[in-house]
Amino acid sequence: MDAGAPLDPRAQIAATVGPPLWLLAEITYRCPLHCAFCYNPTDFAATNDELGTDDWLRVLREARAAGSVQCAFSGGEPLLRDDLAVLVAEARRLGFYTNLLTSGVGLTEARASALKAAGLDHIQLSFQDSTRELNDFLSHTRTFDLKQRVAATIKANGWPMVMNCVIHRLNIDYIENIIDMAVELGAEYLELANSQYYSWALLNRDHLLPSREQIERAERITNERRRRYGERIRIFFVVPDYYETRPKKCMNGWGSVFLTVTPDGTALPCHTAKMLPGMSFPNVRGMGVREIWYDSPGFNRFRGDGWMQEPCRTCPEKEKDRGGCRCQAYLLAGDAAAVDPVCDKSPAHRKVLEAVERAQRPDVCAVREMPLIFRGPAESKRLIARSGKAVAP
Ligand code: SF4
Ligand code: SF4
Repeated sequence: MDAGAPLDPRAQIAATVGPPLWLLAEITYRCPLHCAFCYNPTDFAATNDELGTDDWLRVLREARAAGSVQCAFSGGEPLLRDDLAVLVAEARRLGFYTNLLTSGVGLTEARASALKAAGLDHIQLSFQDSTRELNDFLSHTRTFDLKQRVAATIKANGWPMVMNCVIHRLNIDYIENIIDMAVELGAEYLELANSQYYSWALLNRDHLLPSREQIERAERITNERRRRYGERIRIFFVVPDYYETRPKKCMNGWGSVFLTVTPDGTALPCHTAKMLPGMSFPNVRGMGVREIWYDSPGFNRFRGDGWMQEPCRTCPEKEKDRGGCRCQAYLLAGDAAAVDPVCDKSPAHRKVLEAVERAQRPDVCAVREMPLIFRGPAESKRLIARSGKAVAP
């Protein structure tokens, strides 16, 4: 080849884009829980043709061949799929590091043994709170006692345990109890991830966004508990980006590391990207993973910086955050190619400030007479009938 000849666009992408290191296999949207902050799409009830076992086995092989090294099985509740151990075994055979993200429902001793035999490396167990009352209220199920038993099963099988608790206005004041519970249950890692405001959490934002005072207290207590427990547990505390002035580098950059495959086989650069209007995303039923990753218009849409508008286009910080989250830009500014409104340079930043301002009022939800909306198929169908897509409250 002539050394001076320009690369064709396809070769250019292959030369600049790394492999899809992380595969998120969302094997079902079905879930027995009804979390008010669920990150599944609000129109999930429209998805009913889940990929079968053979399709998933092929996706695992193709993703591994394309360079994926970590595979997280997620949902919904992945344990609702009877073939989970088969999928885990194949992922391990291929050389993936495997992770199960679960609410715990369905992790019986027998399922745990099967997953252990399949070689599952790691389990992340979610709690909604440290008390039965709030855990069961927020998930709209009686699952607190079950989760305690599942935590013991995870430890008994020798898995490292990551506990995850989504933090928000309704449970943030009990953060010390959540941390103490994680230590008592023997968790090695605790993820206190403040709710991000997409999907169901966006519908419930006024109920869930904590006040500044609540966040400052929670950070102070988390630091105090880190000192108290030292090496016994590693605690991650993720601040809600509404309280920042710069957005997060969403998914480490669009189409740079993460590949999500949804239950019906749609391949996405992030698990909420399907909401973006005017975009078409490929399906693993009709296209191979390598082609999806490098060649599909959906994955290339927000790579590089040619898509950026001002102020991002000429911003000296653009490599740091890549203009933030495309879904948040669409949900709050109405344009997926706009600057993420979390950034204080965004013309739509006032929408974030308004939500933050409302969150300082102790009675915000009572004032607005808004009921908490719990995730569920009936609610999802109602939302589909109303609008067909997620909308900001
Ligand atoms: S967030 Fe709650 S409702 Fe949503 S998938 Fe997870 S456990 Fe199920
Ligand atoms: S203007 Fe865009 S690139 Fe600059 S800091 Fe804000 S989001 Fe990041």
